Amino acid sequence: MQSFEGKSVYKGIAMGPIAVFHRRQQAKRKRIDNPDAEMERLEYALEVSKQQLGELYDKAVVQVGKVSAAIFEVHQMMLEDEDYLEAVRNMIRTERVNAEYAVCMTGDNFSEMFAAMSDDYMKARAADVLDISARLVRNLEGQSGEQFVLTEPSVIVAEDLSPSETMQLDKDKILAFVTVHGSTNSHTAILARMMNIPALVGVPLSLEQARNGEIAVVDGFGGKVTFAPDADMRKYAEQTIREEREKMLLLQELKGKDNVTLDGQKINVYANIGSASDIGYVLENDAGGIGLFRSEFLYLGRESFPTEEEQFEAYKQAARMMAGRKVIIRTLDIGADKQAEYFGLDKEENPAMGYRAIRICLSRPEIFKTQLRAILRAAIYGNISIMYPMIIATEEVTQIMAMVEDVKQELEEQGIQYKVPEQGIMIETPAAVMISDKLAQMVDFFSIGTNDLTQYTLAIDRQNEKLDEFYNPHHEAVLRMIKLVVDNAHQYGKWVGICGELAADLQLVERFLEMGVDELSVAPSMVLKLRKKIREICLRD
Ligand code: PEP
Ligand code: MG
Repeated sequence: MQSFEGKSVYKGIAMGPIAVFHRRQQAKRKRIDNPDAEMERLEYALEVSKQQLGELYDKAVVQVGKVSAAIFEVHQMMLEDEDYLEAVRNMIRTERVNAEYAVCMTGDNFSEMFAAMSDDYMKARAADVLDISARLVRNLEGQSGEQFVLTEPSVIVAEDLSPSETMQLDKDKILAFVTVHGSTNSHTAILARMMNIPALVGVPLSLEQARNGEIAVVDGFGGKVTFAPDADMRKYAEQTIREEREKMLLLQELKGKDNVTLDGQKINVYANIGSASDIGYVLENDAGGIGLFRSEFLYLGRESFPTEEEQFEAYKQAARMMAGRKVIIRTLDIGADKQAEYFGLDKEENPAMGYRAIRICLSRPEIFKTQLRAILRAAIYGNISIMYPMIIATEEVTQIMAMVEDVKQELEEQGIQYKVPEQGIMIETPAAVMISDKLAQMVDFFSIGTNDLTQYTLAIDRQNEKLDEFYNPHHEAVLRMIKLVVDNAHQYGKWVGICGELAADLQLVERFLEMGVDELSVAPSMVLKLRKKIREICLRD
Protein backbone atom coordinates (compact mmCIF):
# COMPACT_ATOMS: atom_id res chain seq x y z
CA MET A 1 0.00 0.00 0.00
CA GLN A 2 1.31 3.43 -0.93
CA SER A 3 -0.44 6.79 -0.39
CA PHE A 4 0.09 10.26 -1.88
CA GLU A 5 -1.54 13.56 -1.02
CA GLY A 6 -2.82 16.05 -3.55
CA LYS A 7 -5.26 18.90 -3.99
CA SER A 8 -8.83 17.74 -4.26
CA VAL A 9 -11.01 19.34 -6.92
CA TYR A 10 -14.11 17.24 -6.30
CA LYS A 11 -15.13 15.84 -2.97
CA GLY A 12 -16.06 12.27 -3.68
CA ILE A 13 -14.53 8.85 -3.28
CA ALA A 14 -13.84 6.07 -5.77
CA MET A 15 -12.10 2.71 -5.86
CA GLY A 16 -11.07 0.80 -8.96
CA PRO A 17 -8.27 -0.34 -11.27
CA ILE A 18 -5.64 2.13 -12.42
CA ALA A 19 -5.23 3.12 -16.09
CA VAL A 20 -2.06 5.13 -16.69
CA PHE A 21 -2.39 7.81 -19.36
CA HIS A 22 0.87 8.56 -21.18
CA ARG A 23 1.12 11.61 -23.36
CA ARG A 24 2.80 11.30 -26.76
CA GLN A 25 6.53 11.55 -26.26
CA GLN A 26 8.92 12.96 -28.83
CA ALA A 27 10.83 10.05 -30.37
CA LYS A 28 14.51 9.92 -29.40
CA ARG A 29 17.14 10.40 -32.09
CA LYS A 30 19.23 7.26 -32.64
CA ARG A 31 21.99 6.64 -35.15
CA ILE A 32 21.35 3.60 -37.37
CA ASP A 33 23.80 1.51 -39.41
CA ASN A 34 21.40 -0.06 -41.84
CA PRO A 35 19.10 2.45 -43.59
CA ASP A 36 17.56 -0.31 -45.74
CA ALA A 37 16.34 -2.18 -42.68
CA GLU A 38 14.97 1.09 -41.30
CA MET A 39 13.18 1.71 -44.58
CA GLU A 40 11.58 -1.72 -44.34
CA ARG A 41 10.36 -0.97 -40.83
CA LEU A 42 8.86 2.26 -42.13
CA GLU A 43 7.06 0.52 -45.01
CA TYR A 44 5.63 -2.07 -42.64
CA ALA A 45 4.40 0.62 -40.19
CA LEU A 46 2.84 2.52 -43.10
CA GLU A 47 0.89 -0.54 -44.19
CA VAL A 48 -0.32 -1.27 -40.67
CA SER A 49 -1.34 2.36 -40.18
CA LYS A 50 -3.32 2.46 -43.42
CA GLN A 51 -5.07 -0.75 -42.51
CA GLN A 52 -5.99 0.63 -39.07
CA LEU A 53 -7.34 3.81 -40.63
CA GLY A 54 -9.45 1.76 -43.05
CA GLU A 55 -10.92 -0.15 -40.12
CA LEU A 56 -11.55 3.10 -38.22
CA TYR A 57 -13.28 4.53 -41.27
CA ASP A 58 -15.63 1.54 -41.56
CA LYS A 59 -16.46 1.73 -37.85
CA ALA A 60 -17.02 5.49 -37.95
CA VAL A 61 -19.32 5.28 -41.00
CA VAL A 62 -21.64 3.07 -38.98
CA GLN A 63 -21.41 5.14 -35.79
CA VAL A 64 -21.33 8.74 -37.01
CA GLY A 65 -22.01 8.68 -40.76
CA LYS A 66 -19.94 9.13 -43.88
CA VAL A 67 -19.29 12.86 -43.57
CA SER A 68 -17.72 12.67 -40.11
CA ALA A 69 -15.88 9.45 -40.97
CA ALA A 70 -14.21 11.11 -43.96
CA ILE A 71 -11.38 12.33 -41.73
CA PHE A 72 -9.95 8.80 -41.65
CA GLU A 73 -9.90 8.73 -45.44
CA VAL A 74 -8.05 12.04 -45.40
CA HIS A 75 -5.52 10.50 -42.99
CA GLN A 76 -5.07 7.49 -45.28
CA MET A 77 -4.38 9.81 -48.21
CA MET A 78 -1.92 11.84 -46.17
CA LEU A 79 0.00 8.65 -45.46
CA GLU A 80 0.41 8.26 -49.21
CA ASP A 81 1.56 11.84 -49.76
CA GLU A 82 4.83 11.70 -51.70
CA ASP A 83 6.25 14.97 -50.26
CA TYR A 84 5.74 13.76 -46.71
CA LEU A 85 7.10 10.26 -47.40
CA GLU A 86 10.08 11.56 -49.35
CA ALA A 87 10.97 13.89 -46.49
CA VAL A 88 10.92 10.97 -44.01
CA ARG A 89 12.90 8.62 -46.28
CA ASN A 90 15.43 11.30 -47.10
CA MET A 91 16.09 11.97 -43.46
CA ILE A 92 16.63 8.26 -42.73
CA ARG A 93 19.03 7.90 -45.65
CA THR A 94 21.03 11.11 -45.40
CA GLU A 95 21.12 11.61 -41.63
CA ARG A 96 21.11 7.90 -40.77
CA VAL A 97 18.52 8.32 -38.06
CA ASN A 98 15.86 5.93 -36.80
CA ALA A 99 12.48 5.98 -38.56
CA GLU A 100 10.61 7.10 -35.40
CA TYR A 101 12.73 10.24 -35.15
CA ALA A 102 12.45 10.98 -38.90
CA VAL A 103 8.66 10.64 -38.77
CA CYS A 104 8.40 12.84 -35.68
CA MET A 105 10.57 15.60 -37.12
CA THR A 106 8.86 15.52 -40.52
CA GLY A 107 5.45 15.56 -38.84
CA ASP A 108 6.42 18.63 -36.79
CA ASN A 109 7.84 20.44 -39.83
CA PHE A 110 4.81 19.77 -42.00
CA SER A 111 2.49 20.70 -39.19
CA GLU A 112 4.20 24.07 -38.73
CA MET A 113 4.03 24.65 -42.45
CA PHE A 114 0.27 23.96 -42.54
CA ALA A 115 -0.36 26.05 -39.43
CA ALA A 116 1.28 29.06 -41.09
CA MET A 117 -1.06 28.94 -44.10
CA SER A 118 -3.85 31.47 -44.38
CA ASP A 119 -6.48 29.07 -45.71
CA ASP A 120 -8.51 27.63 -42.81
CA TYR A 121 -8.84 24.21 -44.43
CA MET A 122 -5.07 23.92 -44.84
CA LYS A 123 -4.46 25.23 -41.32
CA ALA A 124 -6.64 22.44 -39.98
CA ARG A 125 -4.34 19.86 -41.63
CA ALA A 126 -1.64 20.82 -39.10
CA ALA A 127 -3.31 18.65 -36.48
CA ASP A 128 -3.89 15.83 -38.98
CA VAL A 129 -0.27 15.53 -39.95
CA LEU A 130 0.69 15.34 -36.26
CA ASP A 131 -1.94 12.70 -35.74
CA ILE A 132 -0.80 10.45 -38.60
CA SER A 133 2.82 10.88 -37.54
CA ALA A 134 1.93 9.84 -33.98
CA ARG A 135 0.14 6.77 -35.33
CA LEU A 136 3.14 5.84 -37.45
CA VAL A 137 5.47 6.23 -34.47
CA ARG A 138 3.24 4.06 -32.29
CA ASN A 139 3.28 1.37 -34.97
CA LEU A 140 7.04 1.66 -35.42
CA GLU A 141 7.46 1.23 -31.69
CA GLY A 142 5.26 -1.83 -31.84
CA GLN A 143 2.57 -0.32 -29.62
CA SER A 144 -1.05 -0.58 -30.54
CA GLY A 145 -1.79 2.10 -33.14
CA GLU A 146 -4.76 3.27 -31.16
CA GLN A 147 -4.69 5.95 -28.55
CA PHE A 148 -5.58 5.50 -24.94
CA VAL A 149 -8.64 3.21 -24.77
CA LEU A 150 -10.41 2.36 -21.52
CA THR A 151 -11.80 -1.15 -21.35
CA GLU A 152 -13.36 -0.93 -17.88
CA PRO A 153 -14.24 1.80 -15.32
CA SER A 154 -10.84 3.01 -14.15
CA VAL A 155 -8.91 5.50 -12.07
CA ILE A 156 -6.97 7.60 -14.60
CA VAL A 157 -3.45 8.45 -13.47
CA ALA A 158 -1.65 10.99 -15.65
CA GLU A 159 1.14 13.52 -15.63
CA ASP A 160 -1.41 16.12 -16.65
CA LEU A 161 -4.58 16.18 -18.73
CA SER A 162 -5.63 18.95 -21.07
CA PRO A 163 -9.34 19.65 -21.57
CA SER A 164 -9.13 18.15 -25.05
CA GLU A 165 -7.48 14.97 -23.78
CA THR A 166 -10.16 14.72 -21.11
CA MET A 167 -12.87 15.08 -23.73
CA GLN A 168 -11.49 12.12 -25.68
CA LEU A 169 -11.93 9.76 -22.75
CA ASP A 170 -15.01 7.62 -22.44
CA LYS A 171 -16.80 9.35 -19.55
CA ASP A 172 -18.69 6.25 -18.48
CA LYS A 173 -15.40 4.52 -17.80
CA ILE A 174 -13.80 7.16 -15.59
CA LEU A 175 -13.97 6.53 -11.84
CA ALA A 176 -11.50 9.25 -10.83
CA PHE A 177 -8.64 11.41 -12.04
CA VAL A 178 -5.24 11.66 -10.39
CA THR A 179 -2.71 14.03 -11.98
CA VAL A 180 0.80 14.99 -11.02
CA HIS A 181 0.30 18.58 -12.24
CA GLY A 182 -2.72 20.79 -12.74
CA SER A 183 -4.39 23.60 -10.89
CA THR A 184 -7.70 23.38 -9.04
CA ASN A 185 -9.11 26.15 -11.24
CA SER A 186 -8.25 24.65 -14.61
CA HIS A 187 -10.89 23.48 -17.04
CA THR A 188 -9.89 19.87 -16.48
CA ALA A 189 -10.76 20.34 -12.80
CA ILE A 190 -14.04 21.96 -13.83
CA LEU A 191 -14.78 19.01 -16.11
CA ALA A 192 -14.19 16.61 -13.23
CA ARG A 193 -16.63 18.57 -11.08
CA MET A 194 -19.14 18.63 -13.88
CA MET A 195 -18.88 14.88 -14.31
CA ASN A 196 -19.16 14.19 -10.58
CA ILE A 197 -15.79 12.52 -10.58
CA PRO A 198 -13.40 12.51 -7.61
CA ALA A 199 -10.21 14.15 -8.75
CA LEU A 200 -6.86 15.02 -7.24
CA VAL A 201 -4.31 17.32 -8.87
CA GLY A 202 -0.75 18.15 -7.84
CA VAL A 203 -0.07 14.61 -6.60
CA PRO A 204 3.69 14.16 -6.17
CA LEU A 205 4.15 10.74 -7.75
CA SER A 206 6.00 9.37 -10.70
CA LEU A 207 3.95 7.48 -13.27
CA GLU A 208 6.19 4.44 -12.85
CA GLN A 209 4.69 4.04 -9.37
CA ALA A 210 1.24 3.50 -10.86
CA ARG A 211 0.65 0.07 -12.37
CA ASN A 212 -2.12 -0.58 -14.87
CA GLY A 213 -4.83 -2.76 -13.36
CA GLU A 214 -3.71 -2.33 -9.73
CA ILE A 215 -6.50 -1.12 -7.42
CA ALA A 216 -6.45 2.49 -6.19
CA VAL A 217 -8.64 4.44 -3.77
CA VAL A 218 -9.09 8.12 -4.60
CA ASP A 219 -10.37 10.02 -1.60
CA GLY A 220 -11.43 13.52 -2.59
CA PHE A 221 -12.46 14.30 1.01
CA GLY A 222 -9.05 13.66 2.47
CA GLY A 223 -7.14 14.68 -0.70
CA LYS A 224 -5.39 11.33 -0.82
CA VAL A 225 -4.83 8.52 -3.31
CA THR A 226 -3.80 5.05 -2.19
CA PHE A 227 -2.36 2.43 -4.50
CA ALA A 228 -2.84 -1.26 -3.61
CA PRO A 229 -4.97 -0.43 -0.53
CA ASP A 230 -4.92 -2.87 2.38
CA ALA A 231 -8.08 -4.48 3.74
CA ASP A 232 -8.77 -1.61 6.21
CA MET A 233 -8.46 1.03 3.52
CA ARG A 234 -10.73 -0.92 1.18
CA LYS A 235 -13.29 -1.23 3.96
CA TYR A 236 -13.12 2.51 4.65
CA ALA A 237 -13.57 3.25 0.93
CA GLU A 238 -16.50 0.89 0.55
CA GLN A 239 -18.21 2.35 3.60
CA THR A 240 -17.67 5.96 2.51
CA ILE A 241 -18.96 5.17 -1.00
CA ARG A 242 -22.08 3.68 0.63
CA GLU A 243 -22.55 6.71 2.91
CA GLU A 244 -22.17 9.09 -0.01
CA ARG A 245 -24.81 7.19 -1.91
CA GLU A 246 -27.15 7.47 1.06
CA LYS A 247 -26.57 11.23 1.31
CA MET A 248 -27.35 11.52 -2.39
CA LEU A 249 -30.56 9.61 -1.83
CA LEU A 250 -31.58 12.04 0.93
CA LEU A 251 -30.97 14.95 -1.41
CA GLN A 252 -33.33 13.31 -3.91
CA GLU A 253 -36.19 14.35 -1.62
CA LEU A 254 -35.52 17.94 -2.62
CA LYS A 255 -36.34 17.27 -6.24
CA GLY A 256 -39.32 19.26 -7.48
CA LYS A 257 -39.01 21.71 -4.55
CA ASP A 258 -38.38 25.45 -4.91
CA ASN A 259 -35.06 27.19 -4.32
CA VAL A 260 -36.58 29.45 -1.70
CA THR A 261 -35.33 30.81 1.61
CA LEU A 262 -37.30 30.38 4.84
CA ASP A 263 -38.52 33.95 4.43
CA GLY A 264 -39.60 33.51 0.85
CA GLN A 265 -36.78 34.83 -1.38
CA LYS A 266 -36.39 32.78 -4.52
CA ILE A 267 -33.39 32.28 -6.74
CA ASN A 268 -32.91 30.21 -9.90
CA VAL A 269 -30.46 27.33 -9.65
CA TYR A 270 -29.21 26.19 -13.04
CA ALA A 271 -26.45 23.82 -14.14
CA ASN A 272 -23.24 24.13 -16.16
CA ILE A 273 -22.56 21.63 -18.93
CA GLY A 274 -19.88 20.94 -21.55
CA SER A 275 -21.89 18.94 -24.04
CA ALA A 276 -25.39 17.75 -24.82
CA SER A 277 -24.47 14.39 -23.29
CA ASP A 278 -24.30 16.08 -19.84
CA ILE A 279 -27.99 16.96 -19.96
CA GLY A 280 -28.80 13.64 -18.31
CA TYR A 281 -26.99 14.90 -15.15
CA VAL A 282 -28.89 18.20 -15.35
CA LEU A 283 -32.26 16.46 -15.43
CA GLU A 284 -31.26 13.89 -12.82
CA ASN A 285 -30.37 16.71 -10.44
CA ASP A 286 -33.48 18.75 -11.23
CA ALA A 287 -31.74 21.95 -12.30
CA GLY A 288 -34.11 24.71 -13.39
CA GLY A 289 -32.17 25.25 -16.60
CA ILE A 290 -28.72 25.30 -18.12
CA GLY A 291 -26.94 28.47 -17.07
CA LEU A 292 -23.74 27.79 -18.99
CA PHE A 293 -23.34 25.47 -21.95
CA ARG A 294 -19.59 25.69 -22.59
CA SER A 295 -19.92 25.27 -26.35
CA GLU A 296 -16.14 25.20 -26.92
CA PHE A 297 -16.10 21.59 -25.72
CA LEU A 298 -17.84 20.74 -29.00
CA TYR A 299 -14.67 21.98 -30.69
CA LEU A 300 -12.20 20.08 -28.47
CA GLY A 301 -10.86 16.55 -28.80
CA ARG A 302 -11.38 16.47 -32.56
CA GLU A 303 -9.46 17.30 -35.70
CA SER A 304 -11.59 19.79 -37.58
CA PHE A 305 -14.26 22.40 -36.95
CA PRO A 306 -17.71 21.08 -36.04
CA THR A 307 -20.03 21.89 -38.93
CA GLU A 308 -23.11 24.08 -38.64
CA GLU A 309 -25.25 20.95 -38.85
CA GLU A 310 -23.37 19.17 -36.04
CA GLN A 311 -23.69 22.21 -33.79
CA PHE A 312 -27.33 22.74 -34.72
CA GLU A 313 -28.08 19.13 -33.74
CA ALA A 314 -26.31 19.50 -30.38
CA TYR A 315 -28.07 22.77 -29.48
CA LYS A 316 -31.42 21.49 -30.72
CA GLN A 317 -31.02 18.36 -28.63
CA ALA A 318 -30.29 20.49 -25.55
CA ALA A 319 -33.28 22.75 -26.20
CA ARG A 320 -35.59 19.80 -26.76
CA MET A 321 -34.41 17.79 -23.76
CA MET A 322 -34.76 20.78 -21.47
CA ALA A 323 -38.35 21.13 -22.69
CA GLY A 324 -38.93 24.83 -22.18
CA ARG A 325 -36.37 25.34 -19.41
CA LYS A 326 -33.66 27.89 -20.18
CA VAL A 327 -30.53 26.76 -22.08
CA ILE A 328 -27.84 29.46 -22.11
CA ILE A 329 -25.32 28.66 -24.82
CA ARG A 330 -22.02 30.42 -24.31
CA THR A 331 -20.36 31.04 -27.68
CA LEU A 332 -16.93 29.63 -28.39
CA ASP A 333 -14.44 30.39 -25.60
CA ILE A 334 -11.40 28.71 -27.08
CA GLY A 335 -7.81 29.72 -26.26
CA ALA A 336 -5.78 29.79 -23.04
CA ASP A 337 -5.96 26.22 -21.64
CA LYS A 338 -8.62 25.14 -24.15
CA GLN A 339 -6.66 24.44 -27.32
CA ALA A 340 -7.60 22.69 -30.54
CA GLU A 341 -4.71 22.39 -32.95
CA TYR A 342 -6.79 22.79 -36.08
CA PHE A 343 -7.49 26.43 -35.13
CA GLY A 344 -3.83 26.98 -35.96
CA LEU A 345 -3.39 29.42 -33.06
CA ASP A 346 0.13 30.68 -32.45
CA LYS A 347 1.90 29.82 -29.21
CA GLU A 348 1.61 32.78 -26.86
CA GLU A 349 3.75 33.96 -23.98
CA ASN A 350 0.70 34.75 -21.92
CA PRO A 351 -2.31 32.88 -23.31
CA ALA A 352 -4.75 33.74 -20.51
CA MET A 353 -4.37 37.36 -21.58
CA GLY A 354 -4.12 36.44 -25.20
CA TYR A 355 -6.03 35.66 -28.30
CA ARG A 356 -9.07 33.87 -26.95
CA ALA A 357 -12.87 33.69 -26.87
CA ILE A 358 -14.70 36.64 -28.40
CA ARG A 359 -11.42 38.04 -29.75
CA ILE A 360 -11.09 35.01 -32.01
CA CYS A 361 -14.77 35.11 -32.94
CA LEU A 362 -14.71 38.77 -33.92
CA SER A 363 -11.55 38.44 -36.00
CA ARG A 364 -12.51 35.12 -37.64
CA PRO A 365 -16.14 35.78 -38.51
CA GLU A 366 -16.49 32.63 -40.60
CA ILE A 367 -16.08 30.56 -37.41
CA PHE A 368 -18.38 32.78 -35.35
CA LYS A 369 -21.11 33.06 -37.96
CA THR A 370 -21.31 29.29 -38.38
CA GLN A 371 -21.94 28.99 -34.66
CA LEU A 372 -24.44 31.85 -34.60
CA ARG A 373 -26.37 30.29 -37.49
CA ALA A 374 -26.55 26.98 -35.62
CA ILE A 375 -27.78 28.67 -32.41
CA LEU A 376 -30.37 30.86 -34.13
CA ARG A 377 -31.71 27.84 -36.00
CA ALA A 378 -31.85 25.72 -32.83
CA ALA A 379 -33.58 28.52 -30.90
CA ILE A 380 -36.95 27.63 -32.42
CA TYR A 381 -36.86 24.28 -30.61
CA GLY A 382 -36.91 25.55 -27.04
CA ASN A 383 -35.89 28.26 -24.60
CA ILE A 384 -32.37 29.12 -25.78
CA SER A 385 -30.32 32.19 -24.81
CA ILE A 386 -26.91 33.19 -26.18
CA MET A 387 -24.10 34.46 -24.01
CA TYR A 388 -20.81 36.01 -25.18
CA PRO A 389 -17.57 35.46 -23.19
CA MET A 390 -14.62 37.69 -22.26
CA ILE A 391 -16.23 41.03 -23.08
CA ILE A 392 -14.20 44.13 -22.28
CA ALA A 393 -15.85 46.91 -24.31
CA THR A 394 -19.20 48.21 -25.54
CA GLU A 395 -17.78 48.25 -29.09
CA GLU A 396 -17.47 44.46 -28.96
CA VAL A 397 -21.14 44.15 -28.14
CA THR A 398 -22.00 46.49 -31.03
CA GLN A 399 -19.90 44.35 -33.39
CA ILE A 400 -21.51 41.14 -32.12
CA MET A 401 -25.00 42.54 -32.60
CA ALA A 402 -24.08 43.53 -36.18
CA MET A 403 -22.91 39.98 -36.89
CA VAL A 404 -26.10 38.54 -35.41
CA GLU A 405 -28.01 40.90 -37.71
CA ASP A 406 -26.00 39.65 -40.73
CA VAL A 407 -26.68 36.04 -39.83
CA LYS A 408 -30.37 36.80 -39.37
CA GLN A 409 -30.52 38.41 -42.85
CA GLU A 410 -28.71 35.44 -44.39
CA LEU A 411 -31.13 32.94 -42.84
CA GLU A 412 -34.06 35.09 -43.89
CA GLU A 413 -32.86 35.20 -47.49
CA GLN A 414 -32.27 31.47 -47.52
CA GLY A 415 -35.76 30.84 -46.18
CA ILE A 416 -34.35 28.96 -43.15
CA GLN A 417 -36.36 29.08 -39.92
CA TYR A 418 -34.67 30.83 -36.99
CA LYS A 419 -35.26 32.91 -33.90
CA VAL A 420 -33.04 35.58 -32.35
CA PRO A 421 -33.05 34.60 -28.70
CA GLU A 422 -32.32 36.50 -25.51
CA GLN A 423 -28.68 37.70 -25.60
CA GLY A 424 -26.39 38.28 -22.66
CA ILE A 425 -22.73 38.62 -21.87
CA MET A 426 -20.36 37.18 -19.36
CA ILE A 427 -18.88 39.60 -16.89
CA GLU A 428 -15.48 38.09 -16.25
CA THR A 429 -13.04 40.96 -16.73
CA PRO A 430 -12.58 43.93 -14.40
CA ALA A 431 -13.18 46.15 -17.46
CA ALA A 432 -16.65 44.70 -17.97
CA VAL A 433 -17.41 45.17 -14.26
CA MET A 434 -16.44 48.83 -14.38
CA ILE A 435 -18.61 49.58 -17.42
CA SER A 436 -21.42 47.24 -16.47
CA ASP A 437 -23.83 50.19 -16.27
CA LYS A 438 -23.27 50.83 -19.99
CA LEU A 439 -23.24 47.17 -20.95
CA ALA A 440 -26.51 46.58 -19.08
CA GLN A 441 -28.25 48.89 -21.53
CA MET A 442 -27.07 46.85 -24.51
CA VAL A 443 -27.91 43.27 -23.53
CA ASP A 444 -30.67 41.22 -21.90
CA PHE A 445 -28.69 39.71 -19.02
CA PHE A 446 -25.33 39.25 -17.35
CA SER A 447 -23.66 36.11 -16.08
CA ILE A 448 -20.64 36.63 -13.86
CA GLY A 449 -17.72 34.33 -14.60
CA THR A 450 -15.94 34.35 -11.28
CA ASN A 451 -13.18 31.99 -12.40
CA ASP A 452 -11.75 34.46 -14.86
CA LEU A 453 -12.88 37.50 -12.90
CA THR A 454 -10.81 36.28 -9.94
CA GLN A 455 -7.85 35.52 -12.19
CA TYR A 456 -7.86 38.98 -13.81
CA THR A 457 -8.69 40.91 -10.65
CA LEU A 458 -6.05 39.28 -8.48
CA ALA A 459 -3.51 38.99 -11.33
CA ILE A 460 -3.25 35.25 -10.68
CA ASP A 461 -3.03 32.77 -13.55
CA ARG A 462 -5.76 30.23 -12.76
CA GLN A 463 -3.67 27.55 -14.51
CA ASN A 464 -0.61 28.06 -12.37
CA GLU A 465 -0.65 25.31 -9.76
CA LYS A 466 1.88 27.14 -7.60
CA LEU A 467 -0.58 29.97 -7.07
CA ASP A 468 -3.55 27.89 -5.90
CA GLU A 469 -3.05 29.08 -2.33
CA PHE A 470 -3.17 32.75 -3.43
CA TYR A 471 -6.18 32.35 -5.68
CA ASN A 472 -8.86 33.60 -3.34
CA PRO A 473 -12.28 33.99 -4.94
CA HIS A 474 -13.60 35.18 -1.55
CA HIS A 475 -11.37 38.24 -1.89
CA GLU A 476 -13.30 41.37 -0.92
CA ALA A 477 -12.43 42.91 -4.31
CA VAL A 478 -14.20 40.09 -6.16
CA LEU A 479 -17.24 40.23 -3.89
CA ARG A 480 -17.55 44.01 -4.25
CA MET A 481 -17.36 43.64 -8.02
CA ILE A 482 -20.20 41.14 -7.97
CA LYS A 483 -22.31 43.57 -5.93
CA LEU A 484 -21.57 46.41 -8.34
CA VAL A 485 -22.55 44.30 -11.35
CA VAL A 486 -25.81 43.19 -9.72
CA ASP A 487 -26.73 46.79 -8.88
CA ASN A 488 -25.95 48.03 -12.38
CA ALA A 489 -27.90 45.22 -14.04
CA HIS A 490 -30.94 45.77 -11.82
CA GLN A 491 -30.86 49.52 -12.39
CA TYR A 492 -31.65 48.78 -16.04
CA GLY A 493 -34.09 45.97 -15.34
CA LYS A 494 -31.75 43.17 -16.41
CA TRP A 495 -31.25 39.90 -14.58
CA VAL A 496 -27.87 38.70 -13.40
CA GLY A 497 -26.45 35.29 -12.59
CA ILE A 498 -23.15 33.76 -11.53
CA CYS A 499 -21.79 30.82 -13.50
CA GLY A 500 -18.22 30.58 -12.20
CA GLU A 501 -17.29 27.96 -9.60
CA LEU A 502 -18.01 30.46 -6.82
CA ALA A 503 -21.74 30.08 -7.48
CA ALA A 504 -21.51 26.66 -5.79
CA ASP A 505 -19.75 27.98 -2.70
CA LEU A 506 -22.13 27.13 0.13
CA GLN A 507 -20.52 29.71 2.42
CA LEU A 508 -21.43 32.52 0.04
CA VAL A 509 -24.99 31.65 -0.94
CA GLU A 510 -26.44 33.87 1.76
CA ARG A 511 -24.33 36.80 0.63
CA PHE A 512 -25.39 36.30 -2.99
CA LEU A 513 -29.04 36.19 -1.95
CA GLU A 514 -28.60 39.43 0.01
CA MET A 515 -27.01 41.06 -3.02
CA GLY A 516 -30.05 40.07 -5.08
CA VAL A 517 -28.30 37.71 -7.50
CA ASP A 518 -31.05 36.19 -9.68
CA GLU A 519 -29.45 32.94 -10.72
CA LEU A 520 -26.64 30.59 -9.71
CA SER A 521 -25.34 28.12 -12.25
CA VAL A 522 -23.30 25.24 -10.86
CA ALA A 523 -22.03 21.74 -11.61
CA PRO A 524 -25.08 19.43 -11.83
CA SER A 525 -23.91 17.54 -8.74
CA MET A 526 -24.16 20.76 -6.69
CA VAL A 527 -27.74 21.71 -7.62
CA LEU A 528 -29.51 19.83 -4.83
CA LYS A 529 -26.84 20.67 -2.24
CA LEU A 530 -27.34 24.33 -3.08
CA ARG A 531 -31.12 23.95 -2.89
CA LYS A 532 -30.78 22.41 0.57
CA LYS A 533 -28.62 25.32 1.73
CA ILE A 534 -30.97 27.97 0.29
CA ARG A 535 -33.96 26.40 2.01
CA GLU A 536 -32.18 26.63 5.38
CA ILE A 537 -31.43 30.37 5.08
CA CYS A 538 -33.54 33.13 6.60
CA LEU A 539 -32.40 36.51 5.29
CA ARG A 540 -34.39 38.48 7.89
CA ASP A 541 -32.31 36.87 10.63
C1 PEP B 1 -15.61 31.79 -15.60
O1 PEP B 1 -14.59 32.32 -16.06
O2 PEP B 1 -15.98 31.92 -14.42
C2 PEP B 1 -16.43 30.91 -16.46
C3 PEP B 1 -17.60 30.45 -16.05
O3 PEP B 1 -15.93 30.55 -17.66
P1 PEP B 1 -14.75 29.47 -17.84
O4 PEP B 1 -14.49 28.84 -16.50
O5 PEP B 1 -15.20 28.50 -18.85
O6 PEP B 1 -13.62 30.32 -18.31
MG1 MG C 1 -14.27 32.34 -18.20
